[in-house]
Amino acid sequence: MTIDAIVAGAGIWGCTVARRLAETGRQVLLLERRAAPGGNVRCETDPQTGIEVHSFGSHIFHTHIPEVWDFARRFADFNGYQHKVLANYKGKTYFLPLGLALINKFFGVELSPGEVAGFMADEARSRALFDAFFRGYTSKQWGKAPEDIDPSVIKRVPVRENWDTNYFNDTNQGIPLAGYNSMFDRMLDHSGITLRCNVEARLENGKFKAGGDELPQSVPVYWSGPIDALFGWKFGRLPWRTLRFEKEILPVRDFQGTAVVNYTEAEVPYTRIHEFKHYHPEDKKTMEAPATVVMREYPAEWKPGDEQYYPVENAESRALAEAYKVEAAKYEGLTAGGRLGEYKYYDMDKSIEAALKATANAKGGV
Ligand SMILES: Cc1cc2nc3c(=O)[nH]c(=O)nc-3n(C[C@H](O)[C@H](O)[C@H](O)COP(=O)(O)OP(=O)(O)OC[C@H]3O[C@@H](n4cnc5c(N)ncnc54)[C@H](O)[C@@H]3O)c2cc1C
Repeated sequence: MTIDAIVAGAGIWGCTVARRLAETGRQVLLLERRAAPGGNVRCETDPQTGIEVHSFGSHIFHTHIPEVWDFARRFADFNGYQHKVLANYKGKTYFLPLGLALINKFFGVELSPGEVAGFMADEARSRALFDAFFRGYTSKQWGKAPEDIDPSVIKRVPVRENWDTNYFNDTNQGIPLAGYNSMFDRMLDHSGITLRCNVEARLENGKFKAGGDELPQSVPVYWSGPIDALFGWKFGRLPWRTLRFEKEILPVRDFQGTAVVNYTEAEVPYTRIHEFKHYHPEDKKTMEAPATVVMREYPAEWKPGDEQYYPVENAESRALAEAYKVEAAKYEGLTAGGRLGEYKYYDMDKSIEAALKATANAKGGV
């Protein structure tokens, strides 16, 4: 078999790279460590309820990048779902982000848009909001004591002076009507792509291998596995946070009335409850069925062997990631990308955008 390019990792970055290269006439070998493509966007259909469960946590596609939206819509029709997030604090429920709905309910006032800035200029009120909605949540997310969470975090959380409770500002948003897995199947449905699952790509003594097999060495390699693993962790391991999910099927039609509720107090051990049927409001059958799937999300310290979810960014980890990137640059024809390859949090659309850029110079017809 002729191979013109190797892509390691069939997440959204690797699948986009593979598709773009195949469309330029190349024969691409796509290697995936797991049993199926999709990376952390991969879903499973719950056999009992037929509900699409986002196995690695809720994933909502949202973008304002026209090329990305055009690309994604070639492989999926989206249902136009608009994401709203609620926050539960001491048994009361509020609409995030910080806007008129939350501020008015929390302080028991009835502000109009023009009054928000003046009202929130009072530091005691900012602090009260920070303590209720960010301190506990952030401490759970990053495994720190609540007192160690710096209020400067709140500067990064925009306060809206209106009633808009849409979580994302992007113009395009939704969930694939036929599910995320179908989107990946369609992306990889190209005669130029050969997908091999359950095989780990690695670099051994300067040579790329797939499991025990040696690969052609003179072709471009697009790597979206962990960049520290690529080089045998020679400078040390990059730090991550992991997540543990607890799934439950409940004999009720609707558990929480929305897809995601954040639990912001430090005392509640989980950060969020996901209820997946709400991502497909168009699916009347599962919406009306007297059963639902919920998943509690528990952040946890990462250790080797755990899934890597969030890079722990600090000066030390940035320097370590940089050392690996310098190492990668020494290999001609090697591109390390995606969230693991770049050690960077990427939303799905930014991951696709980066993959489109990484293959922009690969010439050829579609
Ligand atoms: C909890 C959570 C929620 C999120 N929610 C959203 C959301 O709502 N909207 C949004 O836009 N984004 C969301 N994201 C981000 C989204 O998950 C990423 O953008 C996306 O997963 C990035 O894709 P990727 O291909 O870079 O990485 P991945 O999805 O991690 O794919 C990498 C793939 O490489 C494989 N691999 C690793 N090493 C090897 C190897 N040596 N050989 C072969 N294969 C290998 C892995 O098995 C994996 O399949 C969320 C992320 C998290 C953590």
